Amino acid sequence: MVMPRHVTYLIIGAGIHGLSTAWHLAERLEAQGKGGGRDILVVDKTAIAAGASGIACGVVRNNYYQPAMRELMAQCVEVWESDPEAFSYHPVGYLQISPEAMRADVAEIHEQQRAIGYDSVFIEGAADSTAYMKGLFDDWQARGITSVLHEKKGGYANNTASIYGLAAKAENLGVRILTGVTVTGFTSGRGSDAVTAVETDRGTIGCEQVVVAVGPWINALWAMLDLPETITIRGKDGTLHEDIPMWRFWALEEGTLGVDPALQKTNDGATAPVIHVDTDAPLHSDVDGALITEEMWGIYYKPDANFGGIQGGAMPVKVERPAGEVAVDPYGPESPEFVVDDNFAHMWCSALAFCQKRFEGRIGLYKNREPSGGLGCFTPDSFPVFDRFRENVTVIADSNHGYKMIGVGKLVAEELLGGVSALLEPFRFSRYAEGRLHPTSHSPFPWS
Ligand SMILES: Cc1cc2nc3c(=O)[nH]c(=O)nc-3n(C[C@H](O)[C@H](O)[C@H](O)COP(=O)(O)OP(=O)(O)OC[C@H]3O[C@@H](n4cnc5c(N)ncnc54)[C@H](O)[C@@H]3O)c2cc1C
Repeated sequence: MVMPRHVTYLIIGAGIHGLSTAWHLAERLEAQGKGGGRDILVVDKTAIAAGASGIACGVVRNNYYQPAMRELMAQCVEVWESDPEAFSYHPVGYLQISPEAMRADVAEIHEQQRAIGYDSVFIEGAADSTAYMKGLFDDWQARGITSVLHEKKGGYANNTASIYGLAAKAENLGVRILTGVTVTGFTSGRGSDAVTAVETDRGTIGCEQVVVAVGPWINALWAMLDLPETITIRGKDGTLHEDIPMWRFWALEEGTLGVDPALQKTNDGATAPVIHVDTDAPLHSDVDGALITEEMWGIYYKPDANFGGIQGGAMPVKVERPAGEVAVDPYGPESPEFVVDDNFAHMWCSALAFCQKRFEGRIGLYKNREPSGGLGCFTPDSFPVFDRFRENVTVIADSNHGYKMIGVGKLVAEELLGGVSALLEPFRFSRYAEGRLHPTSHSPFPWS
């Protein structure tokens, strides 16, 4: 494909956000008789789905303690449900299974799901929680559980298949997707800091609007845009916290137990919902009974034919170095540094056995020859930043929440055409300076 010299909309990154934005923008332009995707170019340095979207576990849930996240997720689930086949979406539901320390948080989530009409049931108390879980899986045996939130919507989607589905929708409307094009800088001029052109390793492309949707590479693009490396955050009590790094990395820990996915059916033979368990019960090795942890821990898992077994993960590991010193490339399973090790396999397989008897003694089937895991880039409060910078640059930085956020591109497309999205408002960059921070939960995960 020939490199254009100028486009109206230049989108950087062919992952979930870049492609969702391209598709929805093209739809709107088509509806307005403005040529669909004719003026939209997506560039990616590697390939479609080469980033986090292509390796994501693919879980789609609403279970968030923060009202703004839940409302946004409800909108995203609607987009997933709009074309399950194209997005390879499996609406099997989602279970959040929690210890006492999280009960009040999850009860609140359930209340607010009811308020926004998001279908879920909430079970409280140790005995009732176990009975509910045994009603689904007769071998359920997890301890330290006093509540179950069962979201009837959501589930999971197959990572690369859904991204290709999005790319096809965008291309069918005339969007051009150029891969093997690396953005190296931005040009501005005419007396303003608005971007007039994007510099790439294959030449400069003039543009009117830029969308930066580069997932874990955001730290590099943020620097190219001359945005601040550190920021000041106003706490809820008004205290100013200065010199807080804007970006930091966590390594996502995921893997696959190589059993027949059909092993994980419900008692009535249905496909199992995605399961997320947090507990403060001690975790012991399924190999030799040794104590693995007495701290609160959590795992998630689902049967997934795409991964060839039971796939899931555990709490991520913080990367302690400053963001600028972290090698994002080579990314994902190709990284020599950020793939999971035997400790993860031991912990996660033992945790599976802790939850369900059917997984006892199966650690030998863990797929340790297939490297897995990958980096996520997080904001200071671990919630997304969706905002406009330098007059015409929209940054979609989801703080690693984002495969499920397929609907964000739809809202960004509306804003590119002059609208203002109430759902995106709570995620503006100004919240740090103004102290409009999201509430934090008791979950051991940085993304709940
Ligand atoms: C192991 C793992 C599991 C996850 N599981 C889930 C999950 O179950 N559910 C969930 O909701 N989220 C999950 N996430 C998070 C989710 O995958 C990400 O938040 C989301 O995919 C980010 O999408 P994106 O479009 O912003 O970026 P990406 O999908 O990373 O796409 C960014 C693209 O930008 C390109 N790019 C980067 N720099 C440049 C440049 N200079 N020039 C041109 N192109 C460039 C890259 O090649 C890449 O293709 C997971 C993440 C990981 C790592």
